[in-house]
Amino acid sequence: MDCSSKYNINQSKISLKLNPVPILFNKNGPSPKKIKLSDNFHRNANFFANGNSLPKISIQDQRRNLPIFEKRNKLLEIIKRHKTLIIIGETGSGKTTQIPQYIYSARLQENGKIAVTQPRRVAAISIAMRVALEHGNGMSVGDVVGYSVRFEDVTSKKTKIKYLTDGMLLREAMLDRLLLDYNVVILDEAHERTIHTDILFGVVKSAQKIRAERNHPPLKIIIMSATMDVDHFSRYFNNCQAAYLEGRTYPVNIFYTVKPHDDYQTSCVATFFKIHQEAPANHDVLIFLTGQEEIEACAHQIRLLAKDPDVEGPPVRVCTLYAAQPNSQQMAVFQPTPSGTRKVVISTNIAETSVTISGIKYVIDGGMVKSRSFHPSTGLELLKIQRISQEQAWQRSGRAGRQSEGFCYRIYTRSQFELMKPTSIPEIQRANLNSVALQLLALDIHMLHFDFLDKPPKDSIQAAFEQLKLLGAIEDIDSIALTSLGKKMARFPLDPKFSKILLSAEQYGCLQEALTVIALLSSESILTTPRSKRDQAESVRQKFRSGYGDHITLLNIYREFDTIGQKKKRNWCHEHFINFRNILYVQDVRSQLEEICKNFDLHISSCGSQIDQLRKCLLTGLFMNVAELQRDRQYVTLDRRQVTLIHPSSVLHGQQPAYVVFTEVVQSTKCYLRGIISIEGEWLREIAPDYLRNHNFRYSKDC
Ligand code: ADP
Ligand code: MG
Repeated sequence: MDCSSKYNINQSKISLKLNPVPILFNKNGPSPKKIKLSDNFHRNANFFANGNSLPKISIQDQRRNLPIFEKRNKLLEIIKRHKTLIIIGETGSGKTTQIPQYIYSARLQENGKIAVTQPRRVAAISIAMRVALEHGNGMSVGDVVGYSVRFEDVTSKKTKIKYLTDGMLLREAMLDRLLLDYNVVILDEAHERTIHTDILFGVVKSAQKIRAERNHPPLKIIIMSATMDVDHFSRYFNNCQAAYLEGRTYPVNIFYTVKPHDDYQTSCVATFFKIHQEAPANHDVLIFLTGQEEIEACAHQIRLLAKDPDVEGPPVRVCTLYAAQPNSQQMAVFQPTPSGTRKVVISTNIAETSVTISGIKYVIDGGMVKSRSFHPSTGLELLKIQRISQEQAWQRSGRAGRQSEGFCYRIYTRSQFELMKPTSIPEIQRANLNSVALQLLALDIHMLHFDFLDKPPKDSIQAAFEQLKLLGAIEDIDSIALTSLGKKMARFPLDPKFSKILLSAEQYGCLQEALTVIALLSSESILTTPRSKRDQAESVRQKFRSGYGDHITLLNIYREFDTIGQKKKRNWCHEHFINFRNILYVQDVRSQLEEICKNFDLHISSCGSQIDQLRKCLLTGLFMNVAELQRDRQYVTLDRRQVTLIHPSSVLHGQQPAYVVFTEVVQSTKCYLRGIISIEGEWLREIAPDYLRNHNFRYSKDC
């Protein structure tokens, strides 16, 4: 297609259903930031030209073609010389897949292992698979190259290169602060500044120092990224050196809309169909949206429209990618598409960094992201859709240039882009810190005394310690020691509120049920409700509905699923509009949590039909998430008197229980509570009397 001119969405074919206003794009690039031809581009530029598929070159040749390959020896020399090193290299240069293999071949890890952290599960898994394949000799993932993510460990005694999420390495640090299993730790995608990576900076820095003092084998630390503030990181790591790698950046042609488009979802679909009608079938498309609901709606729309006889273009395979999907579903985006079929991946910011989805030639960037932010002043953690940062916009467009020249359509104007924040705020400065505060205490570190790269706000730290005290994990907010309950809570890979629930469940005789509910809360929704079959789905699931709320409804579903014979489970799920994979994931998570409970010798009993026991038990962890009905049918949170409503997706929507417990707050035009259970007011007095005394009387204000 002619990418240098403005284009109109073909109104006659699709715009009637999509967008009354044609979307005009301006080619407003190449940007000031390095979007340029590099040497290798000339060599490989024709990969996708004229609709031909990728030439079949061996995987070892692919490795040799990477820009990093020529620098291999020099790089190894630098790595050998420095105990801490920052490596900056453009996306696609081969940092994540190659550097660990080079280190391994040079045996720099000696008798230890190499850890490579990733902020996201899907990156850790897909990269480990790719590297296992590259490493070759018929070895599969789990041999020399393995991965470990929450609830899934694919490593063995032979594993030397271990890709793992930053959260998992932090868990390992809880068992061994010095990380003696590893002689090399690579913290990848450092610019993403996830809360876990931020904590790991301090953990590895201290492990390196203590290991040197105690004559343990030295720990080599490598910080990697495509873009970051090198000086800031270098200062933090005792003025360590930084190495710059030249990248293989294929040019990405950037387009901006001529005018703002508020309905970015529809605009993404319209833009997709414009590309779809013109581009060769093997040019795949990656669309960035914000979350499951948006992504599924967009996927549905594309699937429908692609079948419309009026819409030209090859067959389409639509894949979706968001954090809460089970691993198996996430991995589907990496499967090759039959020739003559176009793949479109609709993803959250998961696909923004690290992962390579082969074949992507076009990126459509909706420009928005759903991010979690914690407000110490309101005590609420909100999921909010907001504009991305410029750094994220560049990362997103970079996904189009991984294997050949690409195109990025930004559903925002050039001036909207210029108004975006240059970089994202580190998660540690906007998140609820109670989980990490607990994990650090398990490492005998008090957050106030932790060596942070950037300190989180004091009031967030204060709020985290107050919560941990209320949950009984610490005696008082200055404690540096966990109570015995706190120590147990830290062993679960869960939010402390949820681990508290599991640890209280024995007392209420409902650990069976609590395990199920917490596993359900740790997984993606098990309900699938296609728009066209909403009534049918609701009627067949009617029998599970509980007047006590969403979690009990889900529990009822799981209980019945559990009684169905192994061979019939899939069918049963299909009939009841239950996502089979998601419920299997719940089953798996549940059994892993049960294992931890068994290690504590907890008695796994069932409360049967005495659901009050379970409701009370849930309150032991969630008493800070209680809202009270007001005369105007709105709910006010007890904690900070926030005015909220019950989300329309809740089974309790339209009913008005006097008190509810919620598990999530979402903000759109109003503040909504999601995941609701009704409770009796007097239980609060029984279960959390201290909390109630302190929080009952505050004045009301809107969110
Ligand atoms: P970096 O970490 O520097 O961004 P990677 O090491 O992840 O780069 O990937 C380097 C290159 O290796 C990619 O640009 C791509 O060409 C190739 N590659 C990586 N993973 C895959 C994969 N799963 N399938 C096909 N090619 C891949
Ligand atoms: Mg990488």
